[in-house]
Amino acid sequence: MIPTWAQLLYLAGAVAFILALKGLSGPKTARMGNLIGAGAAVLACAIPFFYVDDMKHVPLILAAIAVGSAGGFYGARVVQMTQMPQMVALFNGVGGGAAALVALVELHEIVELDHAGLDVETFVLVATAFTVLVGAVSFAGSIITFAKLQELMTSRPVVFPGLPVVFGGSLIGAVVLSVLLVREPSMTLGIVLALVGLLVGVLLVLPVGGADVPIVISLLNAFTGLTVAAGGYVLSNTLLLVAGTLVGASGTFLTLLMAGAMGRSVANILFGALKGGSTLGAGEASDRPVRSAGPEDVAILLGYADKVIIVPGYGLAVAQAQHTLRELVDVLSARGIEVDYAIHPVAGRMPGHMNVLLAEAQVPYEQLIEMDEINGEFKNTDVVLVVGANDVVNPAARTTPSAPIYGMPILNADEAKQVVFLKRSMRPGFAGIENELLFNPTTTLLFGDAKDTLGKVLTAVKAL
Ligand code: NDP
Repeated sequence: MIPTWAQLLYLAGAVAFILALKGLSGPKTARMGNLIGAGAAVLACAIPFFYVDDMKHVPLILAAIAVGSAGGFYGARVVQMTQMPQMVALFNGVGGGAAALVALVELHEIVELDHAGLDVETFVLVATAFTVLVGAVSFAGSIITFAKLQELMTSRPVVFPGLPVVFGGSLIGAVVLSVLLVREPSMTLGIVLALVGLLVGVLLVLPVGGADVPIVISLLNAFTGLTVAAGGYVLSNTLLLVAGTLVGASGTFLTLLMAGAMGRSVANILFGALKGGSTLGAGEASDRPVRSAGPEDVAILLGYADKVIIVPGYGLAVAQAQHTLRELVDVLSARGIEVDYAIHPVAGRMPGHMNVLLAEAQVPYEQLIEMDEINGEFKNTDVVLVVGANDVVNPAARTTPSAPIYGMPILNADEAKQVVFLKRSMRPGFAGIENELLFNPTTTLLFGDAKDTLGKVLTAVKAL
């Protein structure tokens, strides 16, 4: 039995998790929200040490906490901003895996109670089977998403003949095993169920293309939340129940929001490749002629404009050019030019990527304008400076039904008087398709790493 004082502290922890989420919903309060969440997690880990009687495993538990903390600390220190999605995938995977393992340990106790002739509530058995299965799916799926994003394997959709049949068969197998486990609890069934869960996780993620992987990470995150919630029920732990439900709900919302921002359904993202329509391919660089210019020409375009809109994208994060960009915007603003940043909801490789990146360079939040709000402004804009973005301004999303990004709302950069792209080559963006806007007569390309080219443009603007 968990003593009342510990239950009350768990409740306080659950409230802290809710406050943490509230804090994370805005840039000004996000840091505080993160700290509150971390504090509540530490509290949650510490409480059991003060009420559990059987202390013989304490050294092992402390050793596991030390290893986990050291790994987490090291990972958080060395990870690049652009590698954040795969870091989240790993964290999420170990969360799901841990929930499945805890459920297997619980199953061991349930089997012993069953053998001793004691009744176990059916719902506890259902929750245990659910946690083993979905935790294993989440673990295996997250490991595959990590491998895809880290380029340890191809990021293209992996499909093979018979995949839908094998996938469907393993899903049915998982359901049958779960029913059997609830009727007749046994460790063998539990372990086989976990193995089938691992297979389902792998088969679920293999057909998903690289650009869609972050959405699947968010979905698997929701899965992990639900397994943790079910685990909380099995262990009669309020805090786990609340925390898991929060993760499940927020992961589900995030998945739906991201899919909506890309103009796709979650089913299309997960199963699009099975129907033959690939969701992504790393495309070839185009050799069609374009108009390119030097930094001085771009500086003149910018320096004598009345209104400029910056479109940041994934390449800005790769180049780590956010500080130079901010400096350029400051110099342009000091010349009396109206400058705003247009933020597309899926620019970069994770939700809020551009907001975080630009906040790092102390860009005032008021200058970041969301897509819906700024899209009407492009037609009154002299120059749009596209810094390392591509798909989010690709008109194929409006005009080409066969394009993988067809239907995704885009920034109306093509409506501006002039468009300048800063990129290194003619390679396409993550969706792997050519961008017709690069070949527009009003478009100019400045080739090179964005940090380098922005630095040169900045020097040239200062010299005007
Ligand atoms: P894109 O991937 O479309 O384009 C990035 C551009 O940056 C490329 O044109 C690349 O061209 C350029 N680039 C890369 N490195 C540099 C560098 N060092 N200096 C200058 N340019 C560079 O990015 P967007 O942000 O426009 O679009 C995001 C894509 O990711 C969309 O397809 C979106 O659907 C997808 N996505 C986003 C998610 C999110 O949550 N944000 C989640 C899931 C998917 P070059 O190689 O020639 O330099």
